[in-house]
Amino acid sequence: MKIVMLGAPGAGKGTQAKMIASKYGIPHISTGDIFRANIKEGTELGKKAKAFMDQGALVPDELTLELIMDRFKQADCANGYVLDGFPRTIPQAEALTKALSDEGGKLDYAINVEVPDENIVNRMSGRRACLSCGGTYHVVFNAPKKEGVCDACGGELVLRDDDKPETVAKRLDVYHTQTQPLIDYYAGQGILKEVDGTKEVAEVFGDITAILDK
Ligand code: ADP
Ligand code: ADP
Ligand code: ZN
Repeated sequence: MKIVMLGAPGAGKGTQAKMIASKYGIPHISTGDIFRANIKEGTELGKKAKAFMDQGALVPDELTLELIMDRFKQADCANGYVLDGFPRTIPQAEALTKALSDEGGKLDYAINVEVPDENIVNRMSGRRACLSCGGTYHVVFNAPKKEGVCDACGGELVLRDDDKPETVAKRLDVYHTQTQPLIDYYAGQGILKEVDGTKEVAEVFGDITAILDK
């Protein structure tokens, strides 16, 4: 099963993608997590990506595509995957469609997690991310068992640099101009599914599994 998660920054794509990955036994691939891992390790790619990410801008398509195409070659992608944060532009989506059709494949679902901009700022300011495993929490809506510590791996939880309110506003702008058009793109392919992302985490997941299990 090949799934793309769509939605604004903070809509809950990562939270749901992780749950989908564990229920259906497919890898969760987050381009943001891969960029952050590279930044942490101080790689060339990480240095290039950081400059864009810190400003709330997108990393250029060329860099992003190189990274994701490389990831698809790994053995765990054989049975599909859930993509979180990729594609984010029409050229990225077109490159994905082409790469899949070259192998005689296609995406099964594009799931749009809908959350209005008003709700996003609250979510982002309360978001805490694990530096070690990419786990995501919220100080109010999805608190870790122990403050500042990841339930899954014991790693340190931090407020991401790009989750500050000024940068979030910029990221929402970028989302509306560059990423939102993907909704129509996937509607055109007949694979778009929409869920109400303002519901509680478990309810949103129930709506998603109802779609995937049909
Ligand atoms: P969120 O989950 O809040 O939407 P991500 O972790 O997906 O954030 O992405 C963080 C940042 O990483 C983005 O603001 C962007 O700079 C960069 N990024 C992640 N995925 C992509 C992509 N597919 N194309 C370009 N930039 C990306
Ligand atoms: P995205 O990957 O789309 O950027 P995340 O999954 O990281 O979004 O979620 C953003 C923040 O909102 C996190 O702090 C997360 O714990 C919280 N969150 C996710 N889903 C919900 C929900 N349904 N209700 C309330 N808070 C949520
Ligand atoms: Zn962790």
